[in-house]
Amino acid sequence: MASTRRPLHPCSGCGKEVRPQQQAILCDSCHQWRHRLCVTNITQAMYRQINKELKQGGSFDWTCPSALPTTHQSAQALVLAVLRPAIQQKNCLMSA
Ligand SMILES: [Zn+2]
Ligand SMILES: [Zn+2]
Repeated sequence: MASTRRPLHPCSGCGKEVRPQQQAILCDSCHQWRHRLCVTNITQAMYRQINKELKQGGSFDWTCPSALPTTHQSAQALVLAVLRPAIQQKNCLMSA
């Protein structure tokens, strides 16, 4: 049988492989990677900020939209809410 080629780190948004040079983030809830571009609520600036905090020994918890309960909050508010208490896990970004 031919082996099926499976993505090592499939994006929970588009299902494609998340490559090391792509901006992606690990969901703290479902533990799946997600391309930043498949996550409409994280901006480039936010990603850089998160990356900076990780490099300084901080950590970042993030929950992807699929794992989040549906709420009345805006996407922006959700990101700010998870960005603030960001100190529990390390190295959850795939690249700068
Ligand atoms: Zn994707
Ligand atoms: Zn998730």
